[in-house]
Amino acid sequence: MNSSLQAQGLIIGGRRQPAHSGALFDVLAPEDERVLAQVARADAVDVDLAVSAARNGFLQWSALAPREREAALLRAADLVAAEGETRFLDNLIDESGSVITKARNEIAYTVDLLRTAAGEARRLYGDTFPNDNPGRLSMVFREPLGVVAIISPYNAPLSLLVKMTAFPLAAGNAVVIKPSEETPLSALAFADLLVEAGIPGDAVNVVTGFGAECGAPLAAHADIDCIALTGSTATGINIGMQAMQRMRRCQLELGGKSALLVLRDADPVKAARIAAQGIFTHAGQICMANSRIVVERPLFEAFTAALKAEAEAIHLGDLRDERSQYGPLINRRAVDKVMAHIEQALAAGAQLLTGGVIHHGLTIAPTVLLEPDRGGGVWREESFGPLACLVAVDSLEEAIAAANDSDYGLSAAVLTNNIQWGFKAAREIRSGSVHIGMHAFQSNALAPIGGYKLSGVGRSGGKYSTEEFTELKWVSVALADPAG
Ligand code: NAD
Repeated sequence: MNSSLQAQGLIIGGRRQPAHSGALFDVLAPEDERVLAQVARADAVDVDLAVSAARNGFLQWSALAPREREAALLRAADLVAAEGETRFLDNLIDESGSVITKARNEIAYTVDLLRTAAGEARRLYGDTFPNDNPGRLSMVFREPLGVVAIISPYNAPLSLLVKMTAFPLAAGNAVVIKPSEETPLSALAFADLLVEAGIPGDAVNVVTGFGAECGAPLAAHADIDCIALTGSTATGINIGMQAMQRMRRCQLELGGKSALLVLRDADPVKAARIAAQGIFTHAGQICMANSRIVVERPLFEAFTAALKAEAEAIHLGDLRDERSQYGPLINRRAVDKVMAHIEQALAAGAQLLTGGVIHHGLTIAPTVLLEPDRGGGVWREESFGPLACLVAVDSLEEAIAAANDSDYGLSAAVLTNNIQWGFKAAREIRSGSVHIGMHAFQSNALAPIGGYKLSGVGRSGGKYSTEEFTELKWVSVALADPAG
């Protein structure tokens, strides 16, 4: 252990504590791979403690009036609005390799998410329905599920975790959070803030550790009622299968290979600017990044030249320099995966438009490949790096077919000025969202975010999260003599 670093504990029942084994793991900064912190390495024993605290927290938190849950989440939003930079900015930059502009966006979005979730605390609407027996009334109540296990990824360690946590809490659930082992510091700071804002400590628990050692026992725990995972499709399949064995609810937001269609009437220069933002933001480590760009042939040459210019103008500097547009990938494994995708695609006949090299450290230069083999590799698999592949097509129908030529279906986008073409694409592309006149990476606290196909199961955001994290119960009452 590096004695100059203070170790960070788990949060169980609102209190920081070491793992029962005393074990720690290092959190590295992607920027220079230095050790940033050491964090408690939880296993099944710690998970058990966290889940039993959460069971107790559920009783306390769900008993509060909606206005009290709303007030606590609003206090959390106010704290982030007032102190977000001090509490979160350095962690976001250091542990996830975010540039300062992306870190600030996450903090601002966190405020929005907390305020939106706070409002949902009052919207656990039920229902009534007509009963053929005139002596009976039928009602439908909406109730919290209980304890929600939240397993989060590294790419937006604050805002994604906030989204996954705030809505279940608003509905009256308690949570056990298992953040990515790459980025536990933002999660610990956020959980501290929730407790400070007045959410009972037992309702907010964090177990830090690795997938197999800590995430798996949490997902399999007999006393949780729901698993929410944002992560890769491989992890999602694993967790989904376990959830079904115990008939637990699960909400899975998984990988993507989103397509951006650039139709023949688009302005090639503007389209290239939008396309570059949609793939290179946060070095392409965005589930909705438009990593497949499909261009109608009449525009191919002009668009390709403009995209090359956009990619080559991207500033890759100090993460705290506001001009820097993206930073390093999360770790060496991620870099190796992207570089292997590039090599395989070139070996299989793709052309390199630009990039294809490591810029410095774990930072890969913006890379665009032309006409990769569509049978596999970079066209079909998620690279999760600053790597786009670009293909030409001869019609709108062919462009839509290319967008649908994927096992994923998270997001898509279409650039056109023709409303009929835009809507035709929006209705025919099989993905959780389609954006016209924008790139594919869009977020909104009220939107139903989620995917078709291997991109996941369920939706999150606004009332859609409330639906995911509540159970419906039919209650009927006999007012007259029951007929039987
Ligand atoms: P990952 O699947 O490797 O890890 C996600 C989380 O799952 C981590 O906390 C990890 O420790 C945990 N985990 C891993 N194995 C586990 C197991 N067997 N049991 C329980 N937990 C386990 O994903 P990642 O690399 O951290 O994140 C990148 C992935 O997340 C990409 O595929 C990206 O597309 C996806 N993602 C999706 C969305 C979305 O909204 N659909 C948003 C962000 C990221």
